[in-house]
Amino acid sequence: MCLKEYRRRRDFSRTPEPQGEKCEELERIYVIQRHQSSRLHWDLRLELDGVLKSWAIPKEPPHERGIKRLAVQTEDHPVEYADFQGVIPEGQYGAGTVETWDRGTYQLLNRNESRIEILIEGKKLKGPFILLRTRWRGDDRNWLFFKMKKGS
Ligand code: MN
Repeated sequence: MCLKEYRRRRDFSRTPEPQGEKCEELERIYVIQRHQSSRLHWDLRLELDGVLKSWAIPKEPPHERGIKRLAVQTEDHPVEYADFQGVIPEGQYGAGTVETWDRGTYQLLNRNESRIEILIEGKKLKGPFILLRTRWRGDDRNWLFFKMKKGS
């Protein structure tokens, strides 16, 4: 359901503009990397805008509905980072061990400034999830990550 707003504004039986057939088929990279650095956390990364949008989750990501996790947005990473596993050396940013915790694809269902709805097709996480910007403690890097209830 990408391009929802674009499509809502147009009647394609009357305008020659493209509907954008391709966007619905697009499957994007989804990965969560378990990162044992000074503090253990899980890095959620979603291929979006040509990069991996990234969030650090301090506790294990939720498999089921009803568990909300803080997800702190971090800097965009290159798409190739989805394949990275290994040891970041002592003294380097994020020093510690990175390993793939879950991996697959996702579809973007809906997105605005403060809400990203995705359909995850991973091995551990499956189904509809939400990232909700909370601005908790006045910091707009703070989001919540949780599995969507049906119809929410
Ligand atoms: Mn990390």
